Amino acid sequence: MSDARPRVEGAGAAGRAMEPAAGQGAGQTVGAAATQAATVAVPRPVSHYIDGRFVPGRAGRVFETLNPSTNRPITTVAEGLAEDVDAAVRAARRAFDEGPWPRSSPAERARMLLRIADAIEDRAEEIAHLEVLDTGLPITQARGQAARAAENFRFFARRIQDLEGQAFQVGDRFLNYTIHKPVGVAGLITPWNTPFMLETWKVAPCLAAGNTCVLKPAEWSPLTAYKLAEIIHEVGLPPGVFNVVHGFGETAGAALVAHPLVNLISFTGETSTGKAIMANGAATLKRYSFELGGKSPVVVFADADFDRAVDAAVFGVFSLNGERCTAGSRLLVEASIYDRFVAAVAERASRIRVGDPFDPATELGPLIHPDHWARVYGYVRAGREEGARLVTGGRRPPGLEEGNYLEATVFADVTRDMRVFQEEIFGPVVVATPFRDEAEAVRLANDVRYGLAAYVWTRDVQRAHRVGQAIDAGMVWLNSQNVRDLRTPFGGMKDSGIGREGGDYSFEFYCERQVIHVALGEHPIPRFGAG
Ligand code: NAD
Repeated sequence: MSDARPRVEGAGAAGRAMEPAAGQGAGQTVGAAATQAATVAVPRPVSHYIDGRFVPGRAGRVFETLNPSTNRPITTVAEGLAEDVDAAVRAARRAFDEGPWPRSSPAERARMLLRIADAIEDRAEEIAHLEVLDTGLPITQARGQAARAAENFRFFARRIQDLEGQAFQVGDRFLNYTIHKPVGVAGLITPWNTPFMLETWKVAPCLAAGNTCVLKPAEWSPLTAYKLAEIIHEVGLPPGVFNVVHGFGETAGAALVAHPLVNLISFTGETSTGKAIMANGAATLKRYSFELGGKSPVVVFADADFDRAVDAAVFGVFSLNGERCTAGSRLLVEASIYDRFVAAVAERASRIRVGDPFDPATELGPLIHPDHWARVYGYVRAGREEGARLVTGGRRPPGLEEGNYLEATVFADVTRDMRVFQEEIFGPVVVATPFRDEAEAVRLANDVRYGLAAYVWTRDVQRAHRVGQAIDAGMVWLNSQNVRDLRTPFGGMKDSGIGREGGDYSFEFYCERQVIHVALGEHPIPRFGAG
């Protein structure tokens, strides 16, 4: 078998050794060898995209992005500061105020979006490889995310053309009707988990609605945002409609949020960051959409389809390296099947193939960054110290000394007062807690500050609906893993977010709803000052 890691082209930058051509690191179960060689051109350096041009940062500063399999730098990235953000926002503002994009018809914009979708599909393999290189996402899952990114553009291209206003007949005196208008300049701030897909999830509806935008991708995963800029550039969107500024949250992100010419902020990331963003943007009164953290329960009753519930529980928390906002990271299991269910999940978890993310057989790759590994591992330690029972995992897998690998980890007998029950771990760690009856299941499910997703497994149809509706989560799946139709609302309750995106809900955020009141005749007008 040949090596599947991409051969990285281009000379090293910044005088430091960059990721070499072929790989290092070995998979525990999967092994170092993999099946498909690939060549991926890595941009050196990764530049901003402002006003239709790829440009370095004005101050000339760069930072490195790391390969999670080795923690060696892949390439350097332009570090955006306030002046770069200002240039991008001004370009976006000009494009909005004077350019053709907001004034074009939905059909014209849809045509461009479909061309972007085609280009993503043409380059899906390259995008998937860059994503794996930058994030450690297993290649099979990265391919799925690239396909979904193209579908995001196709979907919103369709929907924008079907958008309907309302008309109100007011007797024979008035006709009132509503129209959708773009809002203005959007700041789009995205996290490092499934970065390309999540970026398109915001960019597609934002542009479809006729807005212009500045995307600030996460600093740990900048490569595919650069690809998106390349694609949009080639497709030929007018300059300034789409801009990318790379950089850190506290500098580039904060400057975007505080900028007075930005009208709306769509943010996906940690709850604490959302709070900082809201405070920072208050002085310039912005519209926000927040997709934040989660600690989603998987509630399993004794009458559930046991095997399917195990499959879904294991996939739900260990796919996407456990770095998944909707991960079912708390298993709440009816006492009579608790031991058997935990044992089954742990047995499967112990056999999950951890290793080289470029190997198609890999199920769990390295975590994004050594700092994140340390954070997740800190929770493994906390779980032990708090008295949770470690059933499987909890270690760096033998043979994978390099890179940010962690075994799929299962804690049992976790109680509500433990940090591992309450806090988002965002890694391959699941905790299990027994419940006696339906009331206790609902109480435990709701006993955290988050409310993003929930999964309920039972064959009792009435109970499934009852429990699903009683759980305070934005999205509930009954007897199902996380399967989404793009028309449905996506978002969380409580500390998991504000607002909904997805389907036409995205347009509620990215559009102004204007009402026009039309007088049809001579309605009475009070004649003040007429004597
Ligand atoms: P993060 O909050 O650390 O960073 C997200 C983005 O915000 C990055 O681009 C970062 O640079 C930027 N940022 C950081 N500080 C900022 C500031 N002060 N002002 C402006 N921007 C700032 O989150 P992360 O670690 O990248 O992502 C993981 C988190 O994202 C998890 O909590 C996860 O649950 C959440 N998430 C939620 C969803 C959802 O849809 N609800 C989806 C994916 C991820």
